[in-house]
Amino acid sequence: MTTPTSQAEPEEPGSTGISFDPRRWTCWQWPLAWRWYTAAAIAGVLVVTVLSALRAGQGSTNWAVFGIILVLGIAQGELSRGVERSRRSLSGQTHIDFLAIWVVPATLLLPVYLITVIFGVLYLHLWFRSWRPSKTAPLARIVSGACLGLLACSAAHLVSESLLAGQPIGEVSAERLGTAILVAAAVFELIDAVAMAISIKLRDREAHGFTALFGSADDNLLEATTLCLSVLAAFVLALFPFAAVIVLVPTATLHRTVLTKQLEKAASTDGKTGLANAAAWNMAAERTFALARRNQLQVGLLMIDLDFFKRVNDDYGHYAGDDVLGAVGTMLRTEVRTFDLAGRFGGEEFAVLLPAADLREAMAMAERIRVRVTELAVASENTAGEPVTIDSLTASVGVAMYPLHGQKVRDCLRVADQHVYAAKCQGRNRVVGFGHGEGSISAL
Ligand code: GH3
Ligand code: MG
Ligand code: MG
Repeated sequence: MTTPTSQAEPEEPGSTGISFDPRRWTCWQWPLAWRWYTAAAIAGVLVVTVLSALRAGQGSTNWAVFGIILVLGIAQGELSRGVERSRRSLSGQTHIDFLAIWVVPATLLLPVYLITVIFGVLYLHLWFRSWRPSKTAPLARIVSGACLGLLACSAAHLVSESLLAGQPIGEVSAERLGTAILVAAAVFELIDAVAMAISIKLRDREAHGFTALFGSADDNLLEATTLCLSVLAAFVLALFPFAAVIVLVPTATLHRTVLTKQLEKAASTDGKTGLANAAAWNMAAERTFALARRNQLQVGLLMIDLDFFKRVNDDYGHYAGDDVLGAVGTMLRTEVRTFDLAGRFGGEEFAVLLPAADLREAMAMAERIRVRVTELAVASENTAGEPVTIDSLTASVGVAMYPLHGQKVRDCLRVADQHVYAAKCQGRNRVVGFGHGEGSISAL
């Protein structure tokens, strides 16, 4: 479910506290279209909640299910606090709460106005216990996400109600119950995902492509797993509500897996550039060399050293230097092929692994990267806090090849390093690739 948690919406820095003065609410900084969209979602929730409450006397209400969902939802929020603290200290991302696990059972078994109450109570609980103390979730985004989720719930509720044809849950056949649960889950997920994608687009016109609007493959896998748990919770709550406590165990385990995955990522990623760090790059290089040995393939290896980088720090300050490193990281990620691996080796040195590339391809990639560095224009701030654009950057690139320059990763790295040194000696801003001192790409 796209609570503020599971879809990859960009963070809003500094927009966490609540002010009682509406003029100070950060939501006013967001696009007008998004504000209208959110206002319409809030109005929609009010309308469906009131209509549902007016119809409340017409059927029997399953108060046991209502109470169980509330208690388990709060218990789950409490259980997740510790894991969330560690997770956020790693990534700074928004809270993952798995509230969505209660969405399918609620849409199937409760009237809409009680679903609104459940959402309200569980979100307030998370707000006071997790979001407010950790200052990571902007309130406007939470409200917007919750309202869109509630509207998706209402649609799923209508569909499941018509599929059950007004029969009490205890009297419907297993097939009909199963169909209603699965259809409710599908309707909820579809409407919620599309509504959230529209919200992201309205807030950020620059958001293009599936990942920006619907989340990464990992986000969607997590979403799908949560939905499966939600379907199972719906079956348990429909048939034997008190057994629903067992849902908490896989949920807590799933939550820990997310933490483990983030720990793995943090351990292999360089924080400033988002590239592989030296240890992760070396491990990948060893694997690639072993594969190349077995399949008699070549591997290209580039070593890139920014020229006179110390001057950037001296002229604009260390933070500006960091921005340049970040920009080089982004450029490298977009420039290399999907199966290449760019890493930060330390300081202002980068390495790129080019599996199954020959010398000519490796030299061409090195030259492309050299040119891209010269084209960079990095927006940053100098030590006085004034905006600056840093350009006129150059890099010296050394190329080495497996097996031409050595059998081991370390041998090839040494040769690539020697070629960088040769490039520096020849005047910088150039590529050297086949025996240092023998010339640049133009000599090929
Ligand atoms: P050359 O053309 O010979 O490579 O000169 P250079 O100035 O690039 O190389 P040198 O080795 O003299 O200086 C590297 C500089 O990189 C010095 C160091 O302060 C800076 N540096 C290393 N790591 C970081 C970092 O993480 N952030 C910033 N801002 N600077 C860094
Ligand atoms: Mg260096
Ligand atoms: Mg340098």
